[in-house]
Amino acid sequence: MSEFTVAQERKVVTSIPGPKSQALHQRRLDAVSAGAGAALPVYIEKAHGAIIVDADGNHMIDLGSGIGVTTIGHTNAGVVKAVQEQVANLTHTLFTLTPYEQYVEVCELLNKHTPGNFKKKSVLFNSGAEAVENAVKIARKATRKNGIVVFDHAYHGRTNLTFTMNFKSAPYGNGFGPTAPSIQHVPMSYPYRDPQGMTGVEAAQRSINYIEKRVGVEDLAAIVIEPIQGEGGFIVPAEGFLKTLSDWAHANGVIVIADEVQAGVARTGKWFASEHFEGWEPDLFTIAKGIAGGMPISAVTGRAEIMDASHPGGLGGTFGGNPVAAAAAVSVLKEIEAGGVIERAQELGKLLGDRLNALKAKYPVIGDVRGHGAMMALEFVEPGTLNPNKDAVDKLVKHCHSNGVLILNAGTYYNVIRFLPPLAISDALLNEALDVLEEGLAAL
Ligand SMILES: *Cc1c(COP(=O)(O)O)cnc(C)c1O
Repeated sequence: MSEFTVAQERKVVTSIPGPKSQALHQRRLDAVSAGAGAALPVYIEKAHGAIIVDADGNHMIDLGSGIGVTTIGHTNAGVVKAVQEQVANLTHTLFTLTPYEQYVEVCELLNKHTPGNFKKKSVLFNSGAEAVENAVKIARKATRKNGIVVFDHAYHGRTNLTFTMNFKSAPYGNGFGPTAPSIQHVPMSYPYRDPQGMTGVEAAQRSINYIEKRVGVEDLAAIVIEPIQGEGGFIVPAEGFLKTLSDWAHANGVIVIADEVQAGVARTGKWFASEHFEGWEPDLFTIAKGIAGGMPISAVTGRAEIMDASHPGGLGGTFGGNPVAAAAAVSVLKEIEAGGVIERAQELGKLLGDRLNALKAKYPVIGDVRGHGAMMALEFVEPGTLNPNKDAVDKLVKHCHSNGVLILNAGTYYNVIRFLPPLAISDALLNEALDVLEEGLAAL
């Protein structure tokens, strides 16, 4: 790319947050519900590639992509063009009333690029949580059963059903009313914290034992799992865990739903994170965050016979698969299809992996390095133990933010730093951001 609308450099010109952001934050506190938190109250005016620019003119290196959303890069040229053209032609009809091509094209592309060698169909929504909600509806309708199994450390959203599916009740569910019925949580494979030497197959047998005893298969419609967990701290299950689960599910008439909302769409160096796991065969996928360069759109994609079990009119919503968001998704998916994007995620994974492993060898507060592609994480502990070290993460996040690097925490114990850079980031910028992190580590 030859021309940047925003210089691809880190530049800190005020305190962070600076005076303009602080003033905007005062307005926000007066006008916006306290329920919408504020991880870093820096008000962003524009962004391009891997740089976000705040109201005070600070240029920050973005290692979060708005939680894995602007994977293709901020204000990606193809997305900007697709949105501008589409917005001038058609912004809404309601697909289930009078349809349009862009919706169909997103479905075709997702059917083609999700793993699984079988006939697939898709349906579009607005958010990740809405996709998960609908995947559960679809699975229940297709099986005529109710039970849903989810996993420890999972995150699936903030609606009533999806907050029930999350592992952590605080802050997502606490006090927000009754949880949804027929949801059962079972253990996840967490290689860093599982008993030493526990294989993926053994971890799956532990989960299956819970499922058989606590739920039984008679009323079990589906298991829902993130093949690489996002909010839970980028937990990558041990080899064989997912395969054993999907084999068991298919032998028992249970639908397997892969929640790829965070890990999907080129992020991990494959089209979908599920492809990292040999023999793992999901029936349905939920897809959102990185699919449209920042435009709100989500999907459920999967086996045609399951997707078609829902009656006409049962699935949808006013804004679902909006033409402008769909045009952005087509642009992103075609850019990935054209080549280079997935390869870039793999290169970034190599760079990140090398640097993070070097940090782990040097700093004993780092207990684990894990992830795939441009979705990697560090888990922090009290040196020599497995005790979560949230304090170290808080200090490092603060250090990075003050120095113009936007970094995100994660993890059930808030002791994980996750890296989700836009794939448009240069090696030099990523290295510079990691240098800032290392300064913070040295100062701990
Ligand atoms: C973010 C996320 C969701 C929820 O998506 P929203 O668009 O925030 O509703 C669901 N599942 C996973 C794995 C996520 O990371």
